[in-house]
Amino acid sequence: MGSISTQGLRKAFGDVQALDDVTIDVPDGSFFVILGPSGAGKTTTLRAIAGLERLDAGTVRLDGLDATKADPAARDLAMVFQSYALYPKRTAFDNIASPLRARRTPAAEITRRVDEVSALLHIEKLMKRRPAQMSGGEMQRVALARALVRSPRAFLMDEPLTNLDLKLRVEMRTELTRIHRSLGGTFLYVTNDQVEAMSMADQVAVLKEGRVQQVGTPREVYERPANSWVAAFVGNPRISLLPCRAEGTRLVGDGGWSLPRPRTGAAGDGQPLLLGLRAEDVSLDRRDAAAALDGELYALEPLGDRTVVDVRVGSEVLKVKARPSVTGRPGDRLTVSVDLDRAHLFDAGTGLALT
Ligand code: ATP
Repeated sequence: MGSISTQGLRKAFGDVQALDDVTIDVPDGSFFVILGPSGAGKTTTLRAIAGLERLDAGTVRLDGLDATKADPAARDLAMVFQSYALYPKRTAFDNIASPLRARRTPAAEITRRVDEVSALLHIEKLMKRRPAQMSGGEMQRVALARALVRSPRAFLMDEPLTNLDLKLRVEMRTELTRIHRSLGGTFLYVTNDQVEAMSMADQVAVLKEGRVQQVGTPREVYERPANSWVAAFVGNPRISLLPCRAEGTRLVGDGGWSLPRPRTGAAGDGQPLLLGLRAEDVSLDRRDAAAALDGELYALEPLGDRTVVDVRVGSEVLKVKARPSVTGRPGDRLTVSVDLDRAHLFDAGTGLALT
């Protein structure tokens, strides 16, 4: 068993409200990601769950039982940090074995478990090396192995891939999902990298300034963002948010453009809105003349498998995903087709999604 739930966590450091009513439910066996920018309160949430932070208010439940005041060791959680925190003088084997030795596990059992977890992480060849003889990525794997060698109630991981180069980070994402599947435990994982969250999570909680903005599957968060901030934080290229207002059957942009009003998004006439368009939901191919915007080419960003075209529409810049072969010069006139069924509307004042 390994469910974790928090209710109304609050924590202030001086005048910084690090946690402002954080409530999350991490189901047993899930890969749950807390996603948010630097300073959002992710580490503080994890530390509170681990019992390393004294809370101003709120409760932490582990497997349904109140653990708010429980000793960190009694919570039976394994934590992996972005700094590897390996013992420098010990070999990889001894580093990985240390949590088992601390629990006075018999030697044969230790060897069996360390062999098992090092095979899982493909680090069998490193067992006799000390940290100074390993690369950053290898140390990171050893640190992970040391957490995984036990069978705790849950694994808490604080940006464990941050120090790896991009290629290794991408590999480790796949590895971690594989490891999660084969071990079957609860993973609570903290990151500021939305790609990491989107690719690994069963469920993601998006955190900003100590407040949970939305909880859902990566798909829900991407396709039905609760507010314009979540819409902009999740997705690359960033969603374009165009200020506008509803006028009868049309949306009229502050920059002078106009489009038919999308079916979703109940808004009163004149209400200040943001129209959210993802780059893949707009196109330079003429698809539907009824939902088209005229603009001019502002910049091209070739990305290999596609090119992102920045199109200036009135006073705004709209990002459009296009074929890699697209060409043009700044100032060229373009028409952008808009898939209105996939458009998002937000209240410009509160940022909340209108459904
Ligand atoms: P990062 O991604 O940069 O690690 P985070 O989302 O994990 O950020 P936290 O480390 O939880 O954020 O910090 C939340 C807020 O609380 C920040 O504004 C931070 O400066 C502040 N904070 C955290 N720990 C302390 C502390 N011990 N003393 C003072 N302020 C703190």
